[in-house]
Amino acid sequence: MFFVKTENTLRNKINILKKNKKQIGFIPTMGNLHNGHLMLIKKAKQIADIIIVSIYVNPMQFDCKNDFKNYPRTLKNDYLKLKKNNVDLVFSPTNLFSKYNSLKYQTFVEVPKFSSIAEGINRHLHFRGVSTVLTKLFNLIKPNIALFGEKDYQQLQLVHKLVRDLSFDIKIISIPTVRLKNGLALSSRNNNLSKKELKIAPQLYNILKKAKIKLIHSKQTIESIKSEIKKDLLDSGFIPDSIFIRDALNLEKINNNSKKAIILIAVWLGKTRLIDNLKINLF
Ligand code: AMP
Repeated sequence: MFFVKTENTLRNKINILKKNKKQIGFIPTMGNLHNGHLMLIKKAKQIADIIIVSIYVNPMQFDCKNDFKNYPRTLKNDYLKLKKNNVDLVFSPTNLFSKYNSLKYQTFVEVPKFSSIAEGINRHLHFRGVSTVLTKLFNLIKPNIALFGEKDYQQLQLVHKLVRDLSFDIKIISIPTVRLKNGLALSSRNNNLSKKELKIAPQLYNILKKAKIKLIHSKQTIESIKSEIKKDLLDSGFIPDSIFIRDALNLEKINNNSKKAIILIAVWLGKTRLIDNLKINLF
């Protein structure tokens, strides 16, 4: 496995791989790897020849300095996991947004439709940071396929739009959310939960499932279901951050033509922010 830290070394390696006409499968991550990430690697191996994983805690996508500082960083352990899983190349740059000619980084990519709702409401710059870093990584790595988890559903929709709008020749593949047996979606942020919080956290998925049943079987309005989700979250010990029920295809409001809905929830559990979602067939 190659460990690459600089853009120049990465470009050289990519040029060699491209000459050999290998299909490159790329998985962007922020490290602290868990089974969700490993399932993305497993999927990538089924459809690509060369597997590249990036590990970069992207400062641009954190609205809050403390959140960035406290993000779990476990690079050595991550390297071992990636090696064991036969990844071909790890790109873990120190800084992708360095100064140039004494000017700080200037260029941003934005997909306003997907960056201003749901998770983006209280995190104004988050998705701009995501689309900018992904654009940079796509330009550097030039993957044929890039893989993402449905755990970050809004991000996945944003990536589809970004790739389409900017004509990246990249196939986007997604995998379902990987969960613990108790329903808790795997997340690097789970490491920041206390023992007590770890007992509460799985309730998030139960609340989603309860809302799904209401959405399918009751005649309640979306607003009323959202109010009940909020109450359930508060009763369980979460502080709701955003609750959205939208058309799963485009994150527009649900209408008579909507075939699938998505419930997107972001909550605070103590000092940790958790997100989860559930897709629902409406017909
Ligand atoms: P992150 O390191 O959190 O930025 O995540 C990197 C990639 O892993 C993203 O595409 C995430 O959606 C995906 N991912 C994170 N957690 C999970 C999970 N529990 N199940 C599936 N994919 C996940």
